[in-house]
Amino acid sequence: MVSASADALKRSRRQARPTPERESGPFIWREVLWVLDWLSLRLSPVYLGLGVPRGDGSPVVLVPGFLTTDVYLAEMYLWLRRIGYTPYFSGIGINADCIHKLTKRLEKRVQAVHAETGRPVRIIGHSLGGVLARRLALARPDIVSQIIFLGAPIRSLEAHPSLMATAKWVANSVVHPQPDGSSQSPSALLAGNDCECASDHCVPTPPPSIRRASLYSRDDGMIDWRNCLESDPSLNHEVGGTHIGLVFNPRAYRIVAKLLAQAKGPSRRRLAKRAGKRAGRNPILADAPRQAA
Ligand SMILES: [Zn+2]
Repeated sequence: MVSASADALKRSRRQARPTPERESGPFIWREVLWVLDWLSLRLSPVYLGLGVPRGDGSPVVLVPGFLTTDVYLAEMYLWLRRIGYTPYFSGIGINADCIHKLTKRLEKRVQAVHAETGRPVRIIGHSLGGVLARRLALARPDIVSQIIFLGAPIRSLEAHPSLMATAKWVANSVVHPQPDGSSQSPSALLAGNDCECASDHCVPTPPPSIRRASLYSRDDGMIDWRNCLESDPSLNHEVGGTHIGLVFNPRAYRIVAKLLAQAKGPSRRRLAKRAGKRAGRNPILADAPRQAA
């Protein structure tokens, strides 16, 4: 099991190797078009919850991306409530700290939500928020049942060079707790005693009991879309649009509603049986726009 995970990790790193296009970085200027994603959402019936499956009231925690707070996730929060789920904000504050501390804060919130509702918690993480969700799912499969990544760099903590420069500045400015309970100062980090948050390590795959899916866009202006891919292709869903706009993207919303509904629906055995009948065809992918490679 451990060697299989290690192999998968090596494979995913091989596949995420820099290419000439990647070295130049994604086109960040495209991100101003997030407004179009938001307008499309407001004009879509999905926004009103029409044509998507109703939720079962289960709790869903939303986790924001790097340098942001829960505030910009309010649209998705309200939509989740409209379609029948019980949404929660992450409560982690500004997502600009040591990744260990951020994951610990997220764990506290998810633990509290689990205690309050008595139900396993699903998590939707945008960008670095998805990485935090993956780390938490790995550590606490007892309270997390599903994670959905929106433009999350799950293969490698890499992003547009300007974001990487800011991330480096943050890593060099905060205190990093160590596994032995001690703290690592920023100066120790600069001296080369790296904390995980200052490296590009990807988070290993959580246990199979946790349903996962990754939504990504080839037009992402901040994260190389190839870094958003799960090694199992059936878990990846291309939606198009901007990186910021993934939290407003009506195609993403439609897929999220289906993924959440699938997780509460038929047993795994029935899903496997159906998947067999469909001869490997993914019904959700059929909704996503097909884009040229
Ligand atoms: Zn750290």
